[in-house]
Amino acid sequence: MVKVVVVKADSYNEQVVYQAIQELLEELGGIKQFIKPGDKVLIKPNMLEGLPPQKAVTTHPEVIRALIREVKKVGAIPFVGDSPGISSTLKAAEKCGILVICQEEEVELVSFSEKMDVIFPEGRTVKKFALASIYGQVDKVISVAKMKTHSFMGITGGIKNLFGLIVGKDKAQFHLRMKKRSHFAGMLVDLAQVVSPVLYIIDGIVGMEGNGPRNGIVKQAGLLLGGSNGFAVDLIMAEIMGYKSESMPVASRALSLGLSPKLQDIEVIGNGCKTRLQFISPRNLESLDQRLPMPVVDFFQNQLTAKPMITRECIACGRCAAHCPPKAIKMNDDKAVIDYKKCIRCYCCQELCPANAVELKKGLLLRIFRKGNH
Ligand code: SF4
Ligand code: SF4
Repeated sequence: MVKVVVVKADSYNEQVVYQAIQELLEELGGIKQFIKPGDKVLIKPNMLEGLPPQKAVTTHPEVIRALIREVKKVGAIPFVGDSPGISSTLKAAEKCGILVICQEEEVELVSFSEKMDVIFPEGRTVKKFALASIYGQVDKVISVAKMKTHSFMGITGGIKNLFGLIVGKDKAQFHLRMKKRSHFAGMLVDLAQVVSPVLYIIDGIVGMEGNGPRNGIVKQAGLLLGGSNGFAVDLIMAEIMGYKSESMPVASRALSLGLSPKLQDIEVIGNGCKTRLQFISPRNLESLDQRLPMPVVDFFQNQLTAKPMITRECIACGRCAAHCPPKAIKMNDDKAVIDYKKCIRCYCCQELCPANAVELKKGLLLRIFRKGNH
């Protein structure tokens, strides 16, 4: 049976986090099960943007510190890095507190600017990825994600966290190539097989609910999750958040390919294993409901899924226009304006807006569907 460990941790106090990580790893058989002496290990946090840890957008630095210490304990060599959605690795790491941890623990922070091609002939959706070149220089990867909602993918856990190995604006190209959610999820499933982290850790001490992954609401969950199977870890994370875990796009795709264990085949252990919470859903989550098969959602994507709307909060910074994959956003004097004929409902604008000025309005068909079901 695939094992997922859930342990309680009620704060980001250095000792509390370290003890909880140790407990979690011991339940999995110890760090030595995954890391050998001399291994070069990439610890990959979620550094979506350089924001302070209390915003709960990025993996908390104390979780990274605890993992650095565990990796060093076995005589391996840790590196830390990510490609943020905005700005450089260095600037993001400085603001989210990870840089100072790397300095204190004397670990190299790797800037994801160089890339390398990785061929994956078995890929069902993508057969070639250009990944951050550090991937080719390390022996092992540990994905250290944040427990958050995600407007496009429902949740952002250990698997979605790997998207940070795609360097900078190459990410937008994937949104353009994979406009349908099931395709994008398929790409993430392929990516997970390519990167194949030895360990997935989720920082759920403080997570995010509502319209994540950047503009949601901070939510105390008091948990750390871990396991060697990322699909299993994400399924359990979604269950804890109160969602239909197997209907999340990545889970649904991985299950259909026989790559993910089913929920009933996962053994959940640890002192937090019984925890069940109710995270506020992202506005777009209902269209991921099991009652709507993914091909239907794909076909009616624009009618079923939520429509991004620019609100009066817009400060005309231009970030959304710069990052909108199909260039569907233009800047008028004091506001961003969306051309809905071009919009592919990827929600990059909502994800990156610094003023939380992109509201998601439920799609027309979804509202009708909901009415008919109530
Ligand atoms: S990112 Fe947000 S604040 Fe900036 S222009 Fe777009 S909607 Fe306005
Ligand atoms: S307007 Fe927003 S949701 Fe639409 S394509 Fe651009 S970034 Fe994606």
